[in-house]
Amino acid sequence: MATEPKTLAQAIQYFTDPDNCLNYLAKRRWPDGKVACPKCGRTDVAFVPSRRLWQCKTRHRKAQFSIKTGTILEESLLPLEKWLPVMWMVANCKNGVSSWEIHRSLGVAQKTAWFMLHRIRLGMQDKPAFGNVTKLGGPDSEVEVDETFVGGRKQNMHLDKKVRYEAKGGASGKAVVQGILDRTARQVRATVVPNVRRETLQAQILKQVKFGTKVYTDDAVAYEQGLQSRYVHDFVNKTQSYVRGRVHVNGMENFWSLLERGLNGTYVAVEPFHLFRYVDEQAFRYNNRATKDNP
Ligand SMILES: [Zn+2]
Repeated sequence: MATEPKTLAQAIQYFTDPDNCLNYLAKRRWPDGKVACPKCGRTDVAFVPSRRLWQCKTRHRKAQFSIKTGTILEESLLPLEKWLPVMWMVANCKNGVSSWEIHRSLGVAQKTAWFMLHRIRLGMQDKPAFGNVTKLGGPDSEVEVDETFVGGRKQNMHLDKKVRYEAKGGASGKAVVQGILDRTARQVRATVVPNVRRETLQAQILKQVKFGTKVYTDDAVAYEQGLQSRYVHDFVNKTQSYVRGRVHVNGMENFWSLLERGLNGTYVAVEPFHLFRYVDEQAFRYNNRATKDNP
């Protein structure tokens, strides 16, 4: 089997081969190599190479299944050779991809590309890697919590946080995104929240972060009280300095700049209703990116 693609050109080339597509997906869907029937879970299934299908030995509906069965691709008539290069682009282009870019790079109609992107983002939401499945932190862990404001007129995007805070997020037509970063696990959770009130922001921390964790924030009023009872809370006063020893939220700032770059540079316009999808996509990419330890 050819090695996996590293560049877009390689990806396009690689995924023209339907066997490469099948192997690529099967390896991810069944990492232990045991192909399981999506209907009943049996793993002693027979592969039919000529049709690239598996046959389950139990007699039930859909006893024959393909790599698409039971996935977000099941209902799609588009072949894997079209889907996989798009998925590859979504997963590997740091700033995200637009339907127009896919149209230009892969020759897929822009409308089709738009549909594919939405389907793929939907799939990313199901991925436990960035879901709320496991809490972040732990007694020896450090977690950064921060918010950013998205939307509104472009010239307002870089306003001082304090000024934006006074507008209370929602009131000025901006959406608020709260982010929580586990420095050790290098995992981020980002959520579109309705406002910057104390109960809203602290509720997310309670939901996402294990008790006893060291929690770093800035000196926003919302974090002033309430966290000390369950967390080791410390904060940095951004008007004085951005870093005090290990106390800072620079990791979250880094994530916000990735998000902002994606939103401003790549997506022509983001409907507020769809914002959470882009936030999820960015978090997915961040949480699943290759690192030194996990190439
Ligand atoms: Zn079965």
